[in-house]
Amino acid sequence: MCYAIPGKIVEMNNRFAVVDYFGEKRNVLNDNQNIKINDYVYAQGGIVVDKIDTKEALKILKFWKQKFFELKVVDKNLSQIKTGETAKKNKNILAILQKANQNRTLNRQELLALLRLKDKDELQLLYKLANNIRQIKNDNACCVHGIIEFSNCCKNSCHYCGIRKESHIQRYRMSPEQIIKTAETAVRTYGFKALVLQSGEDPYYSDEMLELIVKKIRALGVLVFLSIGLKKSTTYRKLYEAGARAALIRFETSNEKIFKTMRPGTNLSARLNLIKKLKKMGYLIATGFLVGLPRETEGDIIKNILLTKKLGADMYSFGPLIPTIGTPLERQRLMDKNLMLKIIALTRILDREAKILVTTALETLDKNGKKEGLLSGANSLMINVTPPDFRKKYLIYQGRPDKNKQIGKNIKDTVDLLFSIGRAPTDLGI
Ligand code: SAH
Repeated sequence: MCYAIPGKIVEMNNRFAVVDYFGEKRNVLNDNQNIKINDYVYAQGGIVVDKIDTKEALKILKFWKQKFFELKVVDKNLSQIKTGETAKKNKNILAILQKANQNRTLNRQELLALLRLKDKDELQLLYKLANNIRQIKNDNACCVHGIIEFSNCCKNSCHYCGIRKESHIQRYRMSPEQIIKTAETAVRTYGFKALVLQSGEDPYYSDEMLELIVKKIRALGVLVFLSIGLKKSTTYRKLYEAGARAALIRFETSNEKIFKTMRPGTNLSARLNLIKKLKKMGYLIATGFLVGLPRETEGDIIKNILLTKKLGADMYSFGPLIPTIGTPLERQRLMDKNLMLKIIALTRILDREAKILVTTALETLDKNGKKEGLLSGANSLMINVTPPDFRKKYLIYQGRPDKNKQIGKNIKDTVDLLFSIGRAPTDLGI
C-alpha cells in the first residue's frame, strides 16, 4: 500500500509547478531541474520529492482511479451537516457556529464559548462544522508521514517529558547507518514519501553526521522533516542545504511563565526566534503546543492556536500532555479527549486551509482519538517506523498504542481507517 499518489506536472514556472491528481490541481514547489511538464512525480508537504517512471505511475494510478472518487463520496457524506442536526441547540452557540461557517472572525469571547462547550449535541455540531470546512477547503487529502525516533538522549529537563535528562530510562542512540537503513526500509518496503527524524536535544550528533544522514535519506526521494529541537541556525542551514525541507518544532506554550517553569534553562523567545528563522530559510514549519500543562488557562489555549497561525505554520502539531511516571508532572490529571477535539475544531475554524496533525498522544489519551480527530477537522498523521527495539525505549510518555505494533500492521490499520472515512493520501499542496 502506498500513501502518496503520483501526480502529473501540468504547469511549471521557475520553482513553482502545478500537479494534477485526476483533474484536481495542487500548487507545489520544485527544485529538481530534471523535472519537466508531463512528468509524473510524488509531492509531499507541497514539495516535489521524487520523479516516477511514467509506466510505473500509470500502473499505480490505475489502482487509484476508481478508489480516488469512491473515497471522495464517503468523505463528502460523512462531512455534510444535515438539516435537523441544528434543531433545539442553544441559540447563542448556533449563532457563533453560523458565524464561523460564514468565515466571519470570531472574537475571544466566542472562541472561549466554543472551547467551553460541554453539551454532547453541541460538541458534535462543532466537530461536524470543522470537518465540513476541512472537506470544502482541502477535500479528502490526508498527509501521512513516517517518523523515526533516532535517539532518546536529551540534555534538557522539561518537566513533562519522559526522556528528560534526569529520567532513569535505558538510553539509545541509533548510528547514522542504522538511521539510514531504517529510512531505506520505510521508503522501499513500506512506500513512505516523507520521513520525520526525531530525537531528544542530543549534542552527540554533529552537523557532519546529521548532514550525511539527511543527504542519504533525501536521495531516497522523500521529504526530510527534522524534529531535533533547538540547534544553531547555522546547523539548520547546513541541513537545508543537505536536503532537509521541513522542521517540526513546537513552541510548547505561548505563556512565558509556564514555559520557564516547565523547561528550565531554556527560553521561549529563543525557540520562537528559531522557528521564525527556519520559516525564512525556506523550511516548511510544523509547530504548535502541548495542552494541559499546569496553570494553563483556556485563554492560553486560544493564544497558543493564534500564535501557531501567526508563525505561519504549514502544519499544526499539538497534543495532550500525557502525565508520565518518573517526571515532575506524573500526578497531573489526564485530560478529557473532548478538549483536544475542540482545539482541533477551533484550529480548523481559525485556519481553514491548515494541515492539522492528529498526534499519537491523542491516540494514547483515547483509542478512538485518531479517527475522532480526523472527523473534527484534522487531516494529517504520522506512522512510527522506528525499529521496535528502539521504539519501546522512546518514552517521552508511556502507554503509546503503537508501542509493540509491527510497522506493517500499524500501516494497514491506519490505511484501513483512512479509507473507512473516505480519506486519500494525496498531497495537500502549498
Ligand atoms: N527534541 C525535540 C523533539 C521533542 S519530542 C524538540 O525539542 O522539539 C516531541 C514533542 O513531544 C515535544 O515537542 C512535546 O510537545 C511532546 N511531549 C513531550 N513529553 C510529552 C508528554 N508527556 N505528553 C505528551 N507530549 C509530550
